[in-house]
Amino acid sequence: MKSILLSAFLLPLALSSVVPRAEEKIDYHGFKILRVNVPKGAKDVESKIQELSAHILNPGKSALVDVVVSPENLKALEALSLESTVLTEDVGAVLDEEGPISTYAGFATWFTAYHSYADHIQFLRDLQGGYTSQSEVITIGNSVQGRALTGIHIWGSGGKGSKPAVLFHGTVHAREWISTMTTEYLAYQLLTKYASDTTVKALVDKFDFYIIPIVNPDGFVYTQTTDRLWRKNRQTVSTSTCVGRDNNRNWPYKWEVTGGASTNPCSETFKGLAASDAPENRAMVSHVNSLRDGRGLRLYLDIHSYGQYILWPYGYTCSGVVENDAQHRSIASRAAAAIRAISGTAYTIGPACSTLYATTGDSTDYTDAVGNATYSYTYELRDRGTYGFSLPASQIQPTVVETWAGVLSMLKDL
Ligand SMILES: [Zn+2]
Repeated sequence: MKSILLSAFLLPLALSSVVPRAEEKIDYHGFKILRVNVPKGAKDVESKIQELSAHILNPGKSALVDVVVSPENLKALEALSLESTVLTEDVGAVLDEEGPISTYAGFATWFTAYHSYADHIQFLRDLQGGYTSQSEVITIGNSVQGRALTGIHIWGSGGKGSKPAVLFHGTVHAREWISTMTTEYLAYQLLTKYASDTTVKALVDKFDFYIIPIVNPDGFVYTQTTDRLWRKNRQTVSTSTCVGRDNNRNWPYKWEVTGGASTNPCSETFKGLAASDAPENRAMVSHVNSLRDGRGLRLYLDIHSYGQYILWPYGYTCSGVVENDAQHRSIASRAAAAIRAISGTAYTIGPACSTLYATTGDSTDYTDAVGNATYSYTYELRDRGTYGFSLPASQIQPTVVETWAGVLSMLKDL
């Protein structure tokens, strides 16, 4: 079986977006993850690594780059004679631990397994269906392939649209499945605890919540049909055979600044040909702007994985901080403590650029500077690289529970 599947990779699997013929699902058995030490300023080496890797897991890091490499390309990568260590001997074996896509069997087992796109939409509908007087399913626009960007709007005793907005996004990067589960859990908690928990009731009465668990539906579907490690959307560009824009490098604020995204369509962080030229991005921008122009945006959270970080602007520059940097820090610090108190999971906090790496055209810079959000954060959920994007299903429950504690802490601090 394995040799048959491997024949797909005898085709030139050089660039990250090249997929096997007929779009059969990529079998990652035999692929390794290497952490490669890239010499500073070695642009030719960087592009060679990009050509030889199936995916780069931490695009944006310049020194130590984690690359997924096929058995066929391993020798060529080793021939570059770069310092490297093997992080994962067999990517396929790690993906096996994630567990199968589970059939939808109601709320009781929802947070114990991963699910199909259709079931995620059904989950939102079913959740909303139990709370019709204080929630509605919303769509904010369409993806490249025409899927509706679907979420849920939740309000309290003041009535629909009467309070400042809190906005949560999940799954802008297709492979970050734990972010889907987590944003859904936040919606689930807010609605199911409203009647019984006075803290939750007070928060839902104080804010209008807008929660969109999958803002990159095409990419998410592609991770389930074809390539589990796909990151970007599925938009083509006429100048290249490579596919996909990074919707978190496409926001129309500081998009033109260099160094925090790629102009190469084959890169994991391809910023697009122009600011906001991805339809998913245009949908998010117009929704953020409408919340700003309505009751205002109090808190924005962009939920990602992995690495265990809570980050705030700026991404585009490492010098200069937002005017309420100190408040961002104290709110994040208490959220990290709340998470640690639940499970011991340790988060690193700080402004995005100086704490992790430079990112231009990213969501939180936009919501802060243009969306006038009082607070804007990126969460990078579990783990720190052991499983990376494919957390075992057994870690879904502990992850969503600890993250709820962190987010609840933030909401109480607003
Ligand atoms: Zn991400």
